[in-house]
Amino acid sequence: MKACPFCAEQIQDDAIFCRFCGRELVHRTTPEEEARMRTANVLDQAIHNYMNAGWVLVNRTDQAAQLKKPKRFNWFWFLFWLLIGLVAIGLPVILYLIYYAVKKDETVTLSVSKEGVLLINGTIPSPKPAAVPAPVDNRTPEERKAANRRLLIILGVVALVAFIVIPSLCWILSAIANIGQ
Ligand SMILES: [Zn+2]
Repeated sequence: MKACPFCAEQIQDDAIFCRFCGRELVHRTTPEEEARMRTANVLDQAIHNYMNAGWVLVNRTDQAAQLKKPKRFNWFWFLFWLLIGLVAIGLPVILYLIYYAVKKDETVTLSVSKEGVLLINGTIPSPKPAAVPAPVDNRTPEERKAANRRLLIILGVVALVAFIVIPSLCWILSAIANIGQ
């Protein structure tokens, strides 16, 4: 004997209906409920697999679920490329410092014999190269101004391409690539 959960009267343990209040005690599943439980199980399993791989459930209905994978800042690659960049930039500097540390001061000993002959023991100074004559600039001030303006325009275009056009193109192309996904 057990108590009916609805009316608390004593009824048979195997009772399907309470003989006092007439309510159904054993819940029999309908085919629709079974189908719903099946889809829920399939969805649960898939969600479980995703969450094991680091995905987070955003929202969930009976037949659909949305998950997201939070982006993570990858310190390993950040530091890796930072290090590569530092080495690439710093290597010539380091090599020069090593070269400078190893290099010795040059010395020369000068002596004069009794006969008045100069003896040089060490480096003989090489003559300084003759100054290269500056190219003659026979342009008029207007021509020079025009040339400067051309140079400014070229630099402006290069800067525009490097800092505006190329980044914009990259951004547009990546946006297009993302649409396809
Ligand atoms: Zn009852």
